Amino acid sequence: MQTSGNPVNGPNSIQHKKNKKRILIVASIAVVAIWFYAARGTGWTNAINPAYWMRRMRGEDLYRAEGALLLHGNRDVPEVALTFDDGPHAESRAEILAILKKESVKATFFDVGVNMTANPELLIQTIEQGHEIGNHSQDHRSRLDTIEGMERHHEINDADISYASVTGKHLKLLRPPGMRYNDSVLSDTKSLGYVVVGYTTASRDFSADEKPEDIADRTLARTENGSIILLHDYQATAKALPAILKVLKERGFRCVTISEMVSHLPTRPRSSAQKLLLNSNPN
Ligand SMILES: [Zn+2]
Repeated sequence: MQTSGNPVNGPNSIQHKKNKKRILIVASIAVVAIWFYAARGTGWTNAINPAYWMRRMRGEDLYRAEGALLLHGNRDVPEVALTFDDGPHAESRAEILAILKKESVKATFFDVGVNMTANPELLIQTIEQGHEIGNHSQDHRSRLDTIEGMERHHEINDADISYASVTGKHLKLLRPPGMRYNDSVLSDTKSLGYVVVGYTTASRDFSADEKPEDIADRTLARTENGSIILLHDYQATAKALPAILKVLKERGFRCVTISEMVSHLPTRPRSSAQKLLLNSNPN
């Protein structure tokens, strides 16, 4: 007579165990696959750091509300922001604008106050072509984390005065020279109503000796959804730009201004960043 048997050794139990094992394997593969997908582009140090994942759940890997600091665009949107620092330069801005116009691409220019007043027609042309302008300090000589008080205030605010003297409007985005900042700098910039814009991809294009193909390769090597690409308003960059735009287009990336990138962030970081941008004076 067959008894219900020992549940540990019965055929049903063995089958049950096999099923559990299969479910466990499938679930583990699914977890690893989801983790790989979510961790793409984050780097291993971040990917294995629980604190990073906590920040990421809150959207703080994209935008840190505390310092009003934009670090990355939406990872699920196939768009990138091209940013050009240090101009407007008479030797390169017009060429860069012509290339962007030909490809119907909009970008963001972090301009220096003294260059704005030296080349006002290029600043106006940039705005008329639909690009966005950000503050890159008045003279780019001092790093904002090495100065303080009124000296720092002037370095930031005088660039806005330079911009206003040409356009009658005010700036709302800022990138510190050399991307050098600390909590004190971010506290000052936020109190002045700025969103500070970082970058994810450095092209190292600031030397005239750089070959255009090397600049293009460096730019494209790490570009992903939501990349903020750091370029400069120099002739070497202008020469590399057609190749950069061609490959970005082939890979299906749309080029957007920083404000548009902010408007496509996930809800939590977006509402926080836009609150500050909309409270600032319109560009
Ligand atoms: Zn710069």
